[in-house]
Amino acid sequence: MSTTIRRCAHCSEPLPEGADARRRYCSDACRMAAYRRRQTASPERTEAARLRSRLDWVSAQLVEKETALAQSRGRVWDRDRELAALRVQLADERRRGAKAIVGQANLTAGVRERLATASRELSALRRNWSATAEARVAAAEVTGMRDQLATVQDRYAQLAAKYQELSEAAELAVTERQQLQSMVRQWDTLCKRLYKATGGQPAAAVDRDILATWTRFRQAVATPSGHRGRAPVTGPAAGLATGQSAAAGGVR
Ligand SMILES: [Zn+2]
Repeated sequence: MSTTIRRCAHCSEPLPEGADARRRYCSDACRMAAYRRRQTASPERTEAARLRSRLDWVSAQLVEKETALAQSRGRVWDRDRELAALRVQLADERRRGAKAIVGQANLTAGVRERLATASRELSALRRNWSATAEARVAAAEVTGMRDQLATVQDRYAQLAAKYQELSEAAELAVTERQQLQSMVRQWDTLCKRLYKATGGQPAAAVDRDILATWTRFRQAVATPSGHRGRAPVTGPAAGLATGQSAAAGGVR
């Protein structure tokens, strides 16, 4: 709407927008009616009609404004209702949000619990692992000690076998020595008889050789520095009394 509203000079209705500046009436009917009024009507009647027309228009305007106001009130009322509904919705959302927060908290607690359980299991695994590792080390030590023991047992078995050999050899030597001892005793006895029977001068050369050997034997046995010497015997005659024991001691 333009700021300067031009109105019909007869009915006071607004003239169409953009109307010619010289135009005074809204329609030909108004222009003709105004003409007739100027010709016939008194100025009072003209003024009354103009005012009535003006009143009609203002009444129409009032109805229009009241309608618009009612519409506005309706819109305000609608908006109030919408606002109330939104408040209810917001409260619902807040409750839902609170529930969601509680649910999230529960979820978080659950996750924490699972994490703690997993951590406990992990540390248990670590403990078991280290125990297993220690057991492995211990097993390795045991194996090493077993190897060492086996080596030592081998050496012991070898030594025992050697000792057995030596023992058997020693026993054999003892037996041989005993046999030799009795043979020497018997030979000494025979030589003594030969010496007595022949007065130390046998006829046969073999017998003289035998007696010579016997004499050397008795002297060796009697010599203190002799490596076999024990009994202090000076000659075959002196050895006659102690020959038995001297021979036994000398040969051992
Ligand atoms: Zn008019």
